[in-house]
Amino acid sequence: MTVQRYRTLWRLADVVEVVPETPRTKSLVLEVPGWEGHKAGQHVDVRLTAEDGYQAQRSYSIASAPEDKRLVLTVDRLDDGEVSPYLTEVLMVGDKLEFRGPIGGYFTWEARAGGPLLLIGGGSGVVPLMAMLRHRAAVGSDVPTRLLYSSRSYEEIIYRRELETLAARDGALEVIHTLTRSRPARWSGYQRRIDAEMLAEVAWSPDERPFAFVCGPTPLVEAVGAALVGLGHAAARVKTERFGATGG
Ligand SMILES: Cc1cc2nc3c(=O)[nH]c(=O)nc-3n(C[C@H](O)[C@H](O)[C@H](O)COP(=O)(O)OP(=O)(O)OC[C@H]3O[C@@H](n4cnc5c(N)ncnc54)[C@H](O)[C@@H]3O)c2cc1C
Repeated sequence: MTVQRYRTLWRLADVVEVVPETPRTKSLVLEVPGWEGHKAGQHVDVRLTAEDGYQAQRSYSIASAPEDKRLVLTVDRLDDGEVSPYLTEVLMVGDKLEFRGPIGGYFTWEARAGGPLLLIGGGSGVVPLMAMLRHRAAVGSDVPTRLLYSSRSYEEIIYRRELETLAARDGALEVIHTLTRSRPARWSGYQRRIDAEMLAEVAWSPDERPFAFVCGPTPLVEAVGAALVGLGHAAARVKTERFGATGG
């Protein structure tokens, strides 16, 4: 069976670990028999089926590196949501999860494509960007990379420790946070939504032709995409992925 065919088929993954990342966010570690691999930035569709046959389907980015044998999804709980509360609060180790994928070829990065690499995320929009950072680390890439990551609060920064560790051991990687709602007492970083002024400070100059990947709630993605193009970055080098219709 070809890889293309796999992408359209629903199949079952085994949940082998559930890792709390923040008070609202959990990573689901999945084992997929015969997993054929993915590219950093791709997602899967997840399908839940109720006892009466009702089905609900949502997309979730792959958080793990292509080099990782296990597939990791990181899900942010929306309290009034249909699918995310089940994935974060009910699903347990030993359960099975129905999914199809990997899906998507546009919002992907491979180390051999080079850089500089400019990653901009809001909330759970960091998930596919993390797959790119994990891939970059797994292959020992030294492509100059900056992650600008917007979270509501310090406690809600997903992968905070792993990002600190990656940046501490890699002179070519910078991680820049902005906290939009609350800050720790001695916070000296950005404390507002990502805007053109912040991007002018953080993004490379358009002459350096960075590859930009922007992911998160729709309003953030649209504002950042427009601001980057307004600063002179070529639209073709600014790739975007929208996670939801409202803010996140
Ligand atoms: C390509 C792609 C990749 C995605 N990857 C991830 C991921 O890695 N991790 C992750 O947590 N989510 C991801 N999402 C979002 C995910 O698909 C769901 O939309 C999200 O989990 C909400 O589903 P729900 O059924 O819980 O909420 P729903 O029942 O669909 O919605 C409940 C309420 O929340 C609002 N809402 C819906 N989606 C969002 C959102 N994303 N942000 C804020 N409000 C929203 C709705 O307007 C509604 O008011 C991705 C979406 C896309 C399109």
